[in-house]
Amino acid sequence: MVNTQEIRIRTKGNCDVVDITGRVSEAVDQAGLVEGTVTVFSVGSTAGITTTEFEPGLVNHDLKAAFEKIAPQEGRYEHEETWHDDNGHSHVRASLLGPSLSVPVVDGRLTLGTWQQIILVDFDTRARTRTVICQMIGSECA
Ligand code: ZN
Repeated sequence: MVNTQEIRIRTKGNCDVVDITGRVSEAVDQAGLVEGTVTVFSVGSTAGITTTEFEPGLVNHDLKAAFEKIAPQEGRYEHEETWHDDNGHSHVRASLLGPSLSVPVVDGRLTLGTWQQIILVDFDTRARTRTVICQMIGSECA
């Protein structure tokens, strides 16, 4: 079976990290997926998806600090010259993190570690409501 669901996530922007594990897990439950894969994909080019241990040091400080080193907010970006906006760093960070994640589902459960949550990181410079597609492929319960 293939089942596609859309979830909406409110963010504060500016490297806001949101734990979306519960929402993805709900999508898997609703689809009735028992064995297969869920692909979690963020629509748009200024946010990314990955996993982390969702604890304050990492999500409020360490990840932001790492991205600030890789693509500083105050850097000079051709994108901003072209479009006269302020989010060149947002695009670069999102490209490097990547927009999607695949998680194997076994016995109806996401095969995540105990200290591994699925996160959406919004790099844009303002609050956004993000659309995340969860597409489940595999077998459902009989
Ligand atoms: Zn832009």
